[in-house]
Parts: sequence; structure tokens; C-alpha cells
Amino acid sequence: EPLIQLKNINKSYHNDDSETLALNHVSLNIHEGEFVCIMGPSGCGKSTLLNIAGLLDIPSNGEVVFQKESVHKLSSKKRAQLRRENIGFVFQSFNLIDDLTVFENIELPLIYQHVSPNERKFRVEKIMDRLQLSHKKKAFPSQISGGLQQRVAVARAVVSRPRLILADEPTGNLDSERGREVMDILTSLNELGTTILMVTHSTAASDYASRIINLFDGQIVTENLHKGK
Ligand code: ADP
Ligand code: ADP
Repeated sequence: EPLIQLKNINKSYHNDDSETLALNHVSLNIHEGEFVCIMGPSGCGKSTLLNIAGLLDIPSNGEVVFQKESVHKLSSKKRAQLRRENIGFVFQSFNLIDDLTVFENIELPLIYQHVSPNERKFRVEKIMDRLQLSHKKKAFPSQISGGLQQRVAVARAVVSRPRLILADEPTGNLDSERGREVMDILTSLNELGTTILMVTHSTAASDYASRIINLFDGQIVTENLHKGK
């Protein structure tokens, strides 16, 4: 049973007098436990696909099924709730909050979920320990390196134990060594059962995936299981 099903999705954007078809009849099933990578040139629809799979946006046509629930008819409030309960996001630009400490940034999703303060402290400290961030818990994002900032972003994405992690160019702003560290962390989360859907240009990053999907002009052109996985 797939965790997410995209069924014959179209997405078009309308601006003034022009229309862009960003996704053109895309169908895709993502199963629990998979590590799927979407690749393709700039403008081919990768972020649009990630936003729709992550319930941040809705398709113009077609159906999105998340955990057997058809989501395209849900209110945006209900979608936000499904997101908060099930999905962690990691972006190229980290998206940390500058005037919150490392600890407070990681804690934020748990506050949204109304987790008690004691439980929050326990869970934030546990994930900081696992990702080797404990020594930076009182630092602000601007005081730590990009590699550490992305590790904080990963910790924030997983502290609420989401079933799915969506990563948009997670290594895009990192050097190769820091990029490998982040990919190793995502891989170990995947090995513990978290499903991962990642968009990247980097073949160094896509090497970690078990399935690679190539998009071109809004369509899936090839799909292959990764060698050796
Ligand atoms: P990618 O992530 O592969 O670079 P995107 O999904 O961002 O591709 O974009 C796919 C197409 O949709 C591009 O032609 C882009 O210009 C267009 N597009 C994306 N977002 C918008 C938007 N909000 N309004 C209008 N056009 C958009
Ligand atoms: P609300 O409007 O109730 O604050 P949002 O729609 O802003 O809810 O976000 C709910 C959850 O969805 C967030 O906790 C976050 O995990 C995710 N989310 C929504 N939009 C974004 C975004 N642009 N970037 C990253 N995460 C997002």
C-alpha cells in the first residue's frame, strides 16, 4: 500500500496572460520505507511535484492520496494538520529562524503539536544527541556553519517523528564533505523506516536513493531502481 499516490496530476500556473503547465499527467506511487530521488533540469517541475506530494499545494487536475486518504478535497487547514503530523521538510536554504537558538528551532514543530514541555525537552535533547548538535544548543543559526545549520534543519524535520521527509536540494548549499554528512543522516533515518522524497541536481546526493525519477518538461521520462539497492 503506497504512502502517497499521485494519480494523473496536472499543475498549471496562471500569470497575467500566460499559462505554464508545470506538471503534465504525472502518476507516481511512493511506498513506505522508500528513498526516492527526483532529478531533472531547472524548471522541469521538481519543486512543484515536491510541494504537491508534501500537501503544500494542490494539483489543477488529478488526485493525491496520502495514507489512503484522498487529500485534494480537504480544507487547507486539514491539509496543514496532516502535514504537521506526518511530514518533515528540509530545504536548500535551511529555513531556520534567526532569533531562536538551535534548541528552540528544533523544538518548534513540537510546540505546534502541543507536546508538553518535559516531553519536548526529552525529544529535542535526544535528536540533538543523535545528530551531534548538543554542544551547540544555545547557539543561534548565524553562529554556526552551514553544515551544522542543515543538521539543525534535519533535526527539526525529524523531531516530530514524521513518516515522510521531503528534501529540496538538501546539499545545495554545502561543500561535498558537509553534503555527505547530511546524506548519511538522511540514509540512517531511512534505514530506521522513514520514507524520503528528495529533489536534487547532485548525482552525489542521488546516489543515496533507492529509486530515481527523471522529470523533463513536467513529465516523468524515466524511472529506475538504483544499482545495488
Ligand atoms: P524545478 O523545481 O524543476 O526548477 P518548478 O517546479 O519550480 O521547477 O517550476 C516548473 C515550471 O513552473 C517552471 O516553468 C516555472 O517557471 C513555473 N512556475 C513555478 N512556480 C510558479 C509560480 N508560482 N507561478 C508561475 N509559474 C511558476
Ligand atoms: P499554519 O498556517 O497553521 O501555521 P502552515 O501551513 O504555515 O500552518 O504550516 C504547517 C506545517 O507545514 C509547518 O509546520 C511546516 O512543517 C509545513 N510547511 C508549510 N509551509 C511550509 C513552507 N513554506 N516551508 C516549510 N514548511 C512548510
